[in-house]
Amino acid sequence: MAEPRLVEDFHAETRHHRRFPESIVIWDETLRDGEQMPGVHFTPEEKFEIAELLSDMGVGVINAGIPVVSEDEARAVHRIAHAGFRAKILAAARTVPADVDAVIRSGVSQIAIFVAASQVHLKYKLRMTQDEVLAASLKTVKQAKDAGLFVAFVTEDTVRAPFEFVERLYREVQDAGADRLVVADTVGIMTPLTFRWYLEEFRRRVHPKDLSVHCHNDFGLATANTLTAVECGARAPHVCVNGLGERAGNASLEEVVLCLEALYGVSTGIQTGRIHELSRLVEHLSGVPVAVNKALVGYNAFSHEAGIHTHGILQHTLTYEPLQPEVVGRRRQMILGKHTGKAALAEKLKERGLTASDPLLLELLRRVKQETETRSKADLRRFLADYRKLFERPGLSDEEFWAMVSAVGIRPVSAR
Ligand code: MN
Repeated sequence: MAEPRLVEDFHAETRHHRRFPESIVIWDETLRDGEQMPGVHFTPEEKFEIAELLSDMGVGVINAGIPVVSEDEARAVHRIAHAGFRAKILAAARTVPADVDAVIRSGVSQIAIFVAASQVHLKYKLRMTQDEVLAASLKTVKQAKDAGLFVAFVTEDTVRAPFEFVERLYREVQDAGADRLVVADTVGIMTPLTFRWYLEEFRRRVHPKDLSVHCHNDFGLATANTLTAVECGARAPHVCVNGLGERAGNASLEEVVLCLEALYGVSTGIQTGRIHELSRLVEHLSGVPVAVNKALVGYNAFSHEAGIHTHGILQHTLTYEPLQPEVVGRRRQMILGKHTGKAALAEKLKERGLTASDPLLLELLRRVKQETETRSKADLRRFLADYRKLFERPGLSDEEFWAMVSAVGIRPVSAR
């Protein structure tokens, strides 16, 4: 019988549909978009710790934050910029000269200048015309280029903006010196096929020297859309560890990296063996628990309980594992429970050099099932209650807020 095919083999037939860039630069947004997730904030020390690990693992660009946000934020960016990390350190700015100045002062080598592009944002949020947006963009791109920075230009809500405006804006900022153009699906409405069409049109009309994308997960498509973009030649995809980010989050670093590495055999420069360590660090410092069934980094990603599955895995891991857990720094777990079978128990007994006759094995199996089926769920219910209390409404409670209002001295205008 022929040897089983590896996971990469299944993608061989569609190889000619992919136009990967010559090299891929993973651009991490955990410290910027990830931190904008409701309830999340990192201290400067925490930002430094995450940046250090990202850099050590081979992330190409780290967005350290927006220096104009606060003094703490500026200090955090400054410290990361001067740490001598291998990764390029980037900071973000609106198309406002003072923002760009703050980035220049922070000492980073790269800047992301961002402005909204869609009509709904221009009309209701910025209250700017397209010409004003273009002028502010050109002015700040030139300001950053004059300071010697590598400039990435980003528009919020790119994909909902009129294409004529996108074309004009991006062409002109590229002519003014922008080094990298970022297309953002800010509200996560793209699908892989639509995004492919969009990016091919963008390429044809704008001719970007260097293309990047920023995808959100509102419909659960952030990783799929990001992968599509890289297949269309986008070089520096934005990602966040554990898929953190506004609302439903951004494309997750681990998913994008492993799709490229493990499914397509494309190098991202990331030491994937440290993905688990990175995920746990960010989980700890952000306080946002990783879902147990999250791809690659969730507790269940390499766990097996069902008898048929464990039996298969014990014969050959390729039966039910598309990826060896060690690739992302993890270990396989065999869970003993209601769905366990004899093979898993026999394997478990080997740990202590034990074997058992079939009747004894069946008796052991009966007890394992009975014990786990009748176990109380009280601990889980308590955990869920705490979890809901913490996450249904992070930030200040209403009580805390109104107490603060009266402490500040804001009083109702009393009827005289
Ligand atoms: Mn975003």
